[in-house]
Amino acid sequence: MPPTGNPIRIAVAGGNYGGLGTIKNLYLNLLATNPDYDGTKQAPPNPNVNITLIDRRDGFVHYMGMTRGITNPQYGSQLWVPYTDMPWLQHPSIAIRKNIISRITPAHIEFADSSERLEFDYLVLAMGLSRNAPIGVAASTEREYLDSISRYHKLIQDSKSIAVVGGGAVGTEMAADLKSDYPEKDVVLIHSHQLPVQGPFMNEFRHEVVKVLDKLGIRTIFGERVIDETAVKDDFSLEHVKHSAILPELIDSVKRKATLITSSGNKVEADLIFSSNGIRVNKSMQIDDPNYPHIFAVGDISNHAVVKYAKTAIRNGSVAGTNIVKLINSNGKSVKLDEMSNRGGRGRRGRGERIISTGVTTGTTEYSQIKLELGEQYCVIQSEDGVVPSDFASSMSSPDIKISRAKQNLAVGSYPKFGR
Ligand SMILES: Cc1cc2nc3c(=O)[nH]c(=O)nc-3n(C[C@H](O)[C@H](O)[C@H](O)COP(=O)(O)OP(=O)(O)OC[C@H]3O[C@@H](n4cnc5c(N)ncnc54)[C@H](O)[C@@H]3O)c2cc1C
Repeated sequence: MPPTGNPIRIAVAGGNYGGLGTIKNLYLNLLATNPDYDGTKQAPPNPNVNITLIDRRDGFVHYMGMTRGITNPQYGSQLWVPYTDMPWLQHPSIAIRKNIISRITPAHIEFADSSERLEFDYLVLAMGLSRNAPIGVAASTEREYLDSISRYHKLIQDSKSIAVVGGGAVGTEMAADLKSDYPEKDVVLIHSHQLPVQGPFMNEFRHEVVKVLDKLGIRTIFGERVIDETAVKDDFSLEHVKHSAILPELIDSVKRKATLITSSGNKVEADLIFSSNGIRVNKSMQIDDPNYPHIFAVGDISNHAVVKYAKTAIRNGSVAGTNIVKLINSNGKSVKLDEMSNRGGRGRRGRGERIISTGVTTGTTEYSQIKLELGEQYCVIQSEDGVVPSDFASSMSSPDIKISRAKQNLAVGSYPKFGR
């Protein structure tokens, strides 16, 4: 393809399931466009496209097998796949950078270990789970840290009503600290499960937590998820951007003067909202802010799926890749973008042949479907119809935990093919 001017610069931040899912899609739809491409050799050079993958690692890691990887190091050694083992990633239009990303703005990426700035036209955030400011600390010096604490403290002081979304350990402690220090403020804790602090804890413990929340005077809305949110953009939003590390103004962590709608239609209005559900995205996997149609977030870093799955991350990445290609080809005209069909997310844990999906609702309780691989011989499956009988479930366990399939999907030692 002859050059048409400056190449389109696409940055992919994070190179595991979501990031590689994106790049594979970009490879097929932007680079392997020659009619004789059959997946047996490298796609021809394309001087109009410049894709940069940034990761602090030099390879893909198949997390799904990690627990067995520790107990069986021979198996574990297969779980790290160097990027150099994927010949298609060595395409001249793809650059791989091993850097730690320290800051992302709407136009460029900064690194902790290099003074260079990487500018982009399109960005895909695929950096997995990370805790964001204010509870996660974005500051890199004590001065910045103290500044940020006093900014958030002032916000709290100026708010009469505060909502905390997410009743995990951190959200629950946040609500309790708020109400203990400011008993006059209306503090509400919204949590998708019937009891707070999910995890391997006894219900007795959780009920005890609820008692204390009641004693403190915290309003609780349990068993409901926030399904919609509107918030004002004001000076604070802009101030927040200045101090951001990974675009936190786009992350759900702090919002002002917002109205939340929960899954049962409850309307909650609050001067201040703390939550940490990931970067809000729309169904096209673009971040949920019309100012940034060129930035996508996929996989665990996004708020797309309630339960985080590898397969969902790959599918998110594929949708983001397709949509970037559509936007590039639209030349600025309006274009219908692909959408993720199931906001709840679908995924499989382990090797199961049955699709495991999340977000199945029974009454008011949300159940996730899951397959737990318990050693090489057993697994326990909760499917749409309930818990699968143990003999049948265990016939579906696998010593491989899909590492072969992951390598096939990533086209390790080969080149991507359409439809795979
Ligand atoms: C032990 C374990 C078992 C799991 N089992 C299953 C399972 O059986 N089935 C299933 O579906 N899911 C499973 N999951 C969940 C699944 O692994 C995640 O949903 C999936 O990894 C999400 O992919 P991602 O690409 O969004 O993020 P990640 O896989 O976390 O990738 C993020 C990438 O970003 C890079 N990165 C992050 N921050 C920076 C930075 N600042 N600078 C540079 N690079 C950065 C990281 O190095 C990494 O490569 C498991 C997870 C774990 C930990």
